[in-house]
Order: sequence, then structure tokens, then C-alpha cells
Amino acid sequence: MGHVFITRAVPGRAVESLTAAGHSVQLWPGDLPPSPEALAAALAAADAAFTTVVDFVSPAMLAASRHLKIVANMAVGYDNIDPAAAAELGVWVTNTPGVLAETTADMAWALLMAAARNVVASDRDTRAGGWKTWSPTGFLGVDVFGATLGIVGLGEIGEAVARRATGFKMRILYHSRTRKPALEADLGLEYAAFPDLLAGSDFISLHTPLTPETRGLMGAAEFAAMKPSAILVNTSRGGVVDQDALIEALRSRAIAGAALDVTTPEPLPLDSPLYTFPNVVITPHIASASLATRSRMAEMAAENIIAVLGGGAPLHPVNRPTNPRHT
Ligand code: NAP
Repeated sequence: MGHVFITRAVPGRAVESLTAAGHSVQLWPGDLPPSPEALAAALAAADAAFTTVVDFVSPAMLAASRHLKIVANMAVGYDNIDPAAAAELGVWVTNTPGVLAETTADMAWALLMAAARNVVASDRDTRAGGWKTWSPTGFLGVDVFGATLGIVGLGEIGEAVARRATGFKMRILYHSRTRKPALEADLGLEYAAFPDLLAGSDFISLHTPLTPETRGLMGAAEFAAMKPSAILVNTSRGGVVDQDALIEALRSRAIAGAALDVTTPEPLPLDSPLYTFPNVVITPHIASASLATRSRMAEMAAENIIAVLGGGAPLHPVNRPTNPRHT
């Protein structure tokens, strides 16, 4: 039976399942994640690591953790781990696909609507005593119904965002590595080259993973190509956006606003200029944060660990070690 290190308290029955399978569970206490040093020390003593998106597991940590057989990330993204380096060392890396797309798409839409209709700015103003009368010119936003939505990265979440947009009778453009003819036909999507999507969209919603190809995908040239009335929504990863370029685009009014669930770094430091723009909505990486979804994600991470510590292959691998470490 194995020793499992979990980097944070998690909802649902994940810990119960691990214990019921006979494993000992070490839960990192407190609300903040372990420091890199504490993480390295804990991994060195563990057979399995249960991590979140803020736990950066380096190849050096994996090399030093001789008993570690699996890093089970409680997320669909896994840019906090190097799966190829882990595979070479015989360590499985797993994620939690298929359970968080709808919840994340809900949040992308919450952000889009909030930015389009000044929901956060007007709430803030109302609480500060700014509601003096009904104003014909106050908090004028932009219409979502009938507007053009540009989806970048048409995977599970991008598709779920697109499906919601059909109810708003939007024109839906998408750009992805591969065309999806079935979805084009089913949802009325239009494939667009990236420059055409940038120039033609009223809202751009990012849904790619963070990879070497997508890092800084939205930079100065891309913001310059957008409509000055357009709004950027990012629920993917902060690194997909060149944040300095975004700040400059907001300053120069090259774009009308942004709604960000992810930033660089996280947490976003309180002196970031992003906080100074009333037309920017910022949430603390909570797009998958419904109780049901986070519980299911945690349970999937536990299932992956139980499979590997039981001597099998995990259910949701993102790498494939040729010589997996044995239990
Ligand atoms: P997914 O199903 O793997 O979809 C990602 C899509 O991005 C794929 O369809 C892929 O395209 C496309 N893509 C990859 N590289 C691209 C590139 N260079 N240019 C254009 N498109 C590219 O993943 P998902 O479940 O939708 O999740 C997407 C990302 O959202 C995750 O990786 C994660 O980082 C982030 N996320 C964030 C939160 C949050 O809490 N904020 C929650 C969940 C996920 P093809 O299919 O065309 O090859």
C-alpha cells in the first residue's frame, strides 16, 4: 500500500477513497500550497502525489523522488508538470478531462456577460453610494445577443462555450489547430484564420492549453488587430496572454475590456495595473469551482492514484512512461 501526498484539502470523497483502498494519506495543512522546498521534501517520501495547478513539479523533484509513481493533477491543464520528463523517469502524469468543461464554460460566459454589461463595475459603484438616479448614460455596455464570438481553441471547453452562444443567436467564429466539420454543421460555427477571428469578433474567448506554441498567443499585434469595441475573455491560462501587451492595449483603448480568470502570476499582485481599469473583471482562477465539479475532479485524481498504486495504468494519463516505476 502506498503513501499519498495531497497538496491541499480537496472536496468530495477523494481522501476517503484513497484510505479505503488501503493507502496512507498525508494532507498538506492550511490554505496556502507547500513551498517548492516543502513540496520536494514531501514528494521524496511519497509513492503518489496529488497536485493542483499551483504546484510546480520540476524534473529535479521527480528525479529525487525515487518512490514516486504518479503525479495526479487535479486539473485538465498540466502545464505545472513536464509530462515528457516524468515519463523518462518512469512517473505517470494524469489529469481530469471530461468533467469540468460545462462548469468552466459557465464561468467564461459569466465573465463575458459581466464585462459586456458592467456588472462588477456597477455593483462596486452602487455599494460606494453612486446610485443617485436612473441615468440614460450610466454604465452603457455592449449587446451580447446577436454579436460575434471568436473562440480560440475548440476543445471540450471551447465547444461548451459555443453551444451556449447559439442561444444568444451569435455568429460564432473559431480558430483551432484542426477544423471540426461536424461541430461546424451542428452548431453553425465558422472556421476562421486567426487574423480574421481577431478582426471580426466582438468577444474573444481563449480555450487553448498553455504550451510553447500558445504562450503569448495574444500579444501587441493581436490586440492591435482586434476591434476597439471588443472584449477579451480568458479562462485558459494566464501565459496565453502577453499581459504587458494587454495592459498597454487597455491603456491605449485598442480594446474595450477584458475578463480574466487567469493571470501571470497567480495570485495577481495588488500593484498590477490591471486592477486600475474599471473595464477589467478579475476572478481568482475559479472557472471550475462548483462543488460538484471540484469534488469529481478530486475523485478522478484519487482514481488515477489507486489504479497506479494497484499496479495498473491510470485512467487519464497525459504521458506514457516506457518503464513505469513499480509498486
Ligand atoms: P482540450 O479539450 O484539450 O481543448 C484544447 C483545444 O485547444 C484543443 O481543441 C486544441 O485544438 C486547441 N489548441 C491547442 N493548441 C492550439 C494552438 N496552438 N492554436 C489553436 N488551438 C490550439 O482542453 P479543454 O478541456 O477545453 O481545456 C482547455 C484549457 O483550459 C486547459 O488546458 C486549461 O489550461 C484551461 N482550463 C482552465 C480552467 C480554469 O479554472 N480557469 C478550468 C479548466 C481548464 P485541436 O483540437 O484543434 O487540436
